[in-house]
Amino acid sequence: MTTENYVTLSRTGDKMPLVGFGCWKVSPQDAENTIYNAIKAGYRLIDGAADYGNEVEVGRGINKAIKEGVITREEIFVVTKLWNTYHNKTQVRPAFEKQLKDLDLDYVDLYLIHFPVPLKHVNINEIYPPGWYQPNKTEVEFEPSPMYECWHEMEKLAEDKLAHNIGISNFNVQMILDLLTYAQIKPAVLQVELHPYLQQSRLIAWVQSQGIHITAYSSFGPASFIELTNDGKTTPPLLENEVIKEIADKHKKTTGQVLLRWSIERNIAVIPKSTNQERIKSNLDIFSWSLDDEDMKKIASLDKRLRFNDPYSYNFNLPLFD
Ligand code: NAD
Repeated sequence: MTTENYVTLSRTGDKMPLVGFGCWKVSPQDAENTIYNAIKAGYRLIDGAADYGNEVEVGRGINKAIKEGVITREEIFVVTKLWNTYHNKTQVRPAFEKQLKDLDLDYVDLYLIHFPVPLKHVNINEIYPPGWYQPNKTEVEFEPSPMYECWHEMEKLAEDKLAHNIGISNFNVQMILDLLTYAQIKPAVLQVELHPYLQQSRLIAWVQSQGIHITAYSSFGPASFIELTNDGKTTPPLLENEVIKEIADKHKKTTGQVLLRWSIERNIAVIPKSTNQERIKSNLDIFSWSLDDEDMKKIASLDKRLRFNDPYSYNFNLPLFD
C-alpha cells in the first residue's frame, strides 16, 4: 500500500506529489481563483500546458498563494508542457521562455514534451497558443524536427536549471526506446492517458523499470471527452461503473476517489481537475486508505484498451498510437 504522497525523481532528488491539479479546460476567467483555491485546499502540484491557453492566469493563482504565504515557491511543484509547434531546435527555448514569463516564475519543476508530434512552427506573435492547425487552416502540417534535437534543447533547459526536471507525454515504448539511446538526461516522467478502460499495464511496467515515473491523465475516462469525441459520448461513464461503485461503497469512498486511488496503488501520480469545492477536496483524500488485491483484480477486468485522447478521434488523420 502506498502511503507516501510523493515520489522522488532520481536525477534531482526532487519530490513530485502523487496528486496534483490539472489545468486543462479551466477557463482563463476562472483560472487564477481556481488555482489559488486548489493550493489553499492542499494541492502541491499544478499541471499546466501552453496549449491550455491559461498560463498567465494559472501563474497569477500560484503567485497569489506564494505572496499570501499559503505556500513557498519550493513547496509547489509546477509542471508545464512544450507545444507541438515549438519542437524545432531554434524554437524550444523561446517557447519555454514565453511560458515562464506568462507564469511569472523563475523556473518550473517539470517541463514535458506534450506530444511526440513536430508540427510546423507558428510564430508566437501571430497566434498563441496555436493548437493543432496552421492559422486559418484545418489540416495538420508537420515539420522535419527530429526528436533528438528537441530533447537536446530540453536538456539545456534542465542544465540551466530553468526546468528542474524534464519529461515526456503521450510517447509510446518505441519512441522512448529511441530517446533513451541518445538522452544525456533521462526523462523523469511520462504522462499518459490512464484509467480502468485504458490500463496499459505492459507500458507502465516497462517504463517504471527504466526509472521513469508515470503520471496518469484523464483518470475518470470518458468524463472529459463527452463533448469532444464519439467514444467519449457513447462509452458508459466510469464514474458510474457498477464494479467501481461496489468498491467505492465497500470503502465508503466516492467512485472518483476509487479511480484515483487505483493509480496511486500502482505508484502512478494523478492530476484530476474539478471546479467543484467538494470534489477538489475529496480528490485529495486518497492516501489514508487503500484498495485490496481483490479490488485491483476486479478493476483489472474492466480494461477495454479504449483511448479517448487520440488525435485520430479529432478528425485529423494521425493514428499516433497505432
Ligand atoms: P479529469 O479526468 O481530471 O476530469 C474529468 C471531468 O471529471 C472533469 O470535467 C471534472 O469536472 C470531473 N470530475 C473531477 N473530479 C470528479 C469527481 N471526484 N467526481 C466526479 N467528477 C469529477 O480530466 P482531464 O481534465 O481529462 O485530465 C486531468 C488533467 O490531466 C488535465 O487537466 C490536464 O492537466 C492533464 N491532461 C494532460 C493531457 C496530455 O496530453 N498530457 C491530456 C489531457 C489531460
